[in-house]
Amino acid sequence: RANAEKFEFQAEVSRLMDILINSLYSNKDIFLRELISNASDALDKIRFLALTDKEVLGEGDNTKLEIQIKLDKEKKILSIRDRGVGMTKEDLRKNLGTIAKSGTSAFVEKMQTSGDLNLIGQFGVGFYSVYLVADYVEVISKHNDDKQYVWESKADGAFAISEDTWNEPLGRGTEIRLHLRDEAGEYAEEYKLKELVKKYSEFINFPINLWASKEVEKEVPADEDESIDEEETSESTSSEEEGEEEEDAEKTEDEKKPKTKKLKETTYEWELLNDVKAIWLRNPKEVTDEEYTKFYHSLAKDFSDDKPMAWSHFNAEGDVEFKAVLFIPPKAPHDLYESYYNTKKSNLKLYVRRVFISDEFNELLPKYLNFLMGLVDSDTLPLNVSREMLQQHNSLKTIKKKLIRKALDMIRKLAEEDPDESNDKKDVEESSDDNEKKGQYAKFWNEFGKSIKLGIIEDATNRNRLAKLLRFETTKSDGKLTSLDQYISRMKSSQKDIFYITGASKEQLEKSPFLERLNKKDYEVIFFTDPVDEYLMQYLMDYEDKKFQNVSKEGLKLKDSKTKELKESFKGLTKWWKNTLASDNVEDVKISSRLADTPCVVVTSKYGWSAYMEKIMHSQTL
Ligand code: ADP
Ligand code: MG
Repeated sequence: RANAEKFEFQAEVSRLMDILINSLYSNKDIFLRELISNASDALDKIRFLALTDKEVLGEGDNTKLEIQIKLDKEKKILSIRDRGVGMTKEDLRKNLGTIAKSGTSAFVEKMQTSGDLNLIGQFGVGFYSVYLVADYVEVISKHNDDKQYVWESKADGAFAISEDTWNEPLGRGTEIRLHLRDEAGEYAEEYKLKELVKKYSEFINFPINLWASKEVEKEVPADEDESIDEEETSESTSSEEEGEEEEDAEKTEDEKKPKTKKLKETTYEWELLNDVKAIWLRNPKEVTDEEYTKFYHSLAKDFSDDKPMAWSHFNAEGDVEFKAVLFIPPKAPHDLYESYYNTKKSNLKLYVRRVFISDEFNELLPKYLNFLMGLVDSDTLPLNVSREMLQQHNSLKTIKKKLIRKALDMIRKLAEEDPDESNDKKDVEESSDDNEKKGQYAKFWNEFGKSIKLGIIEDATNRNRLAKLLRFETTKSDGKLTSLDQYISRMKSSQKDIFYITGASKEQLEKSPFLERLNKKDYEVIFFTDPVDEYLMQYLMDYEDKKFQNVSKEGLKLKDSKTKELKESFKGLTKWWKNTLASDNVEDVKISSRLADTPCVVVTSKYGWSAYMEKIMHSQTL
């Protein structure tokens, strides 16, 4: 094309496209939901803009916020079109030529080895999945602020953008035209497209219409032979009183005698493929587990077979009204803790009265709950104000409080329903339901335990609730996870404090001299082996009126009648020792009651860093 401007793809995009176009990956279906999801995002954007400026919607067909799918069976072209926000020339160049999201590189790497494309949508490169089924793609787009352009590429490392002077004007929005590869012929079948939309795009909140063929019967003039045939048969059914009603009978027969016949003919019309009633508006009792699972998959853009670990769907009433669905994902996202303190990334979508507002709204959940996926639809928040105004709205505090409460309840239930977690180990009849729930809390803890710990550090209001959710191994837990409540239930009557020790691994801690006496006296000690545990224990001072005592720190008191005597008789030695080591090296030298076989240990002062903390801090400053 004369006016085409050529561009090269960013190297990473090029590599991704190479992989996709040569992919033998069997589940090529995913491209359609990626395109529909992009169309839906674009529609969300224009609807949001229209809240404060009605003009942006335009008039006539432009106001129809819908997605249309059309097939050209002959030419093997599949097109998906939306009346969303559209893309300017610059948008086309940037959005469909470079990758904005971080972590994509790692994804491409992983995809190359594992061949798994299920998570492509999570990495901000979903669009390129079109090259699984097409070898040539055109993107025609019209944004309110620019002319209509065509982006095109044959996945050969380059793409071109031209001002569109030959296609029909779109008004506003985007049309993606896929020139299907020979092997992808199945996507030129209506039934296949219908099946895919049902399967993957059920929860899109805009109508998805397919330009579908329909067999209709059309009346055409009948030919002679047939009408004679008709006449003969109708004779036998004519009325008894032939003579009298001859004229009438004649007339009736005339009517019965078809002058026309019916012919099958194919016509086309728009067929709606989805039910746009939002799942969160429905009564939770009427939504099936399968529907929640599918809804989760569409929210998370995760199309693997994994089910969410749990969900909570509720309707908050009172001063602040909202509906919400929260999910615990089956796995932690790849970057959950990677940049925890640098990025603010919530996975909660905010709607106000069914209108999507934002998925970057961080005022709804505290950071430590960012692993949750879901949405909030509020009737109380105002619709036509800026995002900044919304962020300061009073109701947000109430919504946040309720969401935290519900989220923690959901996690607590996950533990309560897990037969492995139950305190009394007497044999309860196991149902299949039990089997499914067995070990689910350990699984949760494995994926998201760190978030609970971060919560204890960050959320003083809910500290106790969160502490209840803590799990750890102890000197007596036999390799299994245990809770603070279980620990307390096993405490000896002589024991006042909750004992714990910190270190790099359980194996290393088991050999610690600090445990000698405690083990001998049959006290249980908690192992904290995650670096974050050191910080955690600076915030978790007590639980259910019991203090925490680090057994490697000063302050451990084990009742021992001989201690006093020993103190007296070794006074000379301890004094000499303290003077010899000098006061900048040690604070004190004391007779210890914590050892059994080891002659001496170095103990940290009560408010000082533990030895392990010293190690962590040291490794961080290096
Ligand atoms: P993601 O949707 O995660 O951002 P994609 O690769 O699917 O990643 O799309 C890249 C970008 O291209 C989108 O963020 C959007 O800006 C733009 N885009 C894609 N499809 C459309 C569309 N139908 N209308 C408007 N913009 C679109
Ligand atoms: Mg996308």
